[in-house]
Amino acid sequence: MHPQDPSPDLSTQLIHHPYRPPEDFAAPQAGVFKASTVFFPNAAAMRNREWKHKTGYTYGLHGTPTSYLLEERLATLEGGLQTLLAPSGLAAIALVSLSLLGQGDEVLLPDNVYGPSKALAAGELKAWGITHQFYDPMDPGDLARRLTDRTRLVWLEAAGSVTLEFPDLPELLRVCRAVPNLVVALDNTWGAGLAFNAFDMAPGRGVDLSVHALTKYPSGGGDVLMGSVITRDEALHLRLKDTHMRLGLGVGMNDVEAVLRGLPSLALRYAAHDRAARELARWCLDRPEFSQVLHPALEGAPGHAHWKALCGGKTSVADAGQLPGKAAGLFSVMFDTPYGSAQVDAFCDALRLFKLGYSWGGPVSLVVPYELDGMRERWPAYLERGTLVRFSVGLEAVEDLQADLAQALNCLA
Ligand SMILES: *Cc1c(COP(=O)(O)O)cnc(C)c1O
Repeated sequence: MHPQDPSPDLSTQLIHHPYRPPEDFAAPQAGVFKASTVFFPNAAAMRNREWKHKTGYTYGLHGTPTSYLLEERLATLEGGLQTLLAPSGLAAIALVSLSLLGQGDEVLLPDNVYGPSKALAAGELKAWGITHQFYDPMDPGDLARRLTDRTRLVWLEAAGSVTLEFPDLPELLRVCRAVPNLVVALDNTWGAGLAFNAFDMAPGRGVDLSVHALTKYPSGGGDVLMGSVITRDEALHLRLKDTHMRLGLGVGMNDVEAVLRGLPSLALRYAAHDRAARELARWCLDRPEFSQVLHPALEGAPGHAHWKALCGGKTSVADAGQLPGKAAGLFSVMFDTPYGSAQVDAFCDALRLFKLGYSWGGPVSLVVPYELDGMRERWPAYLERGTLVRFSVGLEAVEDLQADLAQALNCLA
């Protein structure tokens, strides 16, 4: 029995043991604070609790030191002010739409938007009286024609996560800004807060909300699901925070820790994925099996000029050896028409290092075959007809990945 503990009962002792570690522990990683319940020092503090701002702690759903830390670091990454965490990237997307839209409102989504976003619009949003339209991301005029006084929210995404076309984001923003009370949200998972600045794309042109699937590059492990919504607009943040509370979108602190561990190496990993993806995409350009290689940094790829203007960067002497501009580790190939789905599947099955699996941003290279028919309202003029395969390039040696692609293609011969 501890001398300061008056109870002789072992159960009570083990719960209310008075030992407190000294407070000056310092180490590279912050501690992981897990809580559903949070203690208040007295009843007045409990009555006067304030859960919307990071001035204290009220309940696990509203955060612990661990989640506050990740929120602040993510806001810094994007040049934002506030961050909300959600249990997945898709939950973060849903949070934005559910918070800002009500019966009679309309949301506009790019026709190449992340697939489950389309399903949310066609499912719950539609059932709740919220209409949607899909606009051509490569035609700002098409977006302008679809805006009405019922449009409350416009989603942007760059690059398209399957077809990798890069829209003219500043121009799409200019079009949106002609409509009052319209919120513009960007799915910035591809850019990861590194490729371009979502809140400052051009003077006076930035998005209101930047959404990330932290599942991808920020986590970097392929083992965590989490999402975030970052903004510079305090009022908008508080509006989303209300919905976040009512929907109960809590995240687990062990998962938060995993993302915190990933952040310091985010920029290095992103650059490594980028370098390898560009090398493999260039190699694919010379292969006769493909009618098209889709990567925004390739000359002639859909939206290359827009990518270059926004993410192109400057190549200076100090950058010698660096690639011009920034891009993620994704690229897609369009198999030429003689190759049907069966051969494309055989190619995917023949790959050894590239694994068949969804998502991206982890160490393992991934491949997914897609049939674009049924995914889009319209087949874009800039895409060849055929079966598309998307590669997410991991962190394996690029020569090994290239050899893997070559041996799998040889299986088709
Ligand atoms: C993966 C992804 C999401 C969803 O993230 P999850 O954490 O898997 O729900 C959203 N948008 C894009 C562009 C993605 O790649």
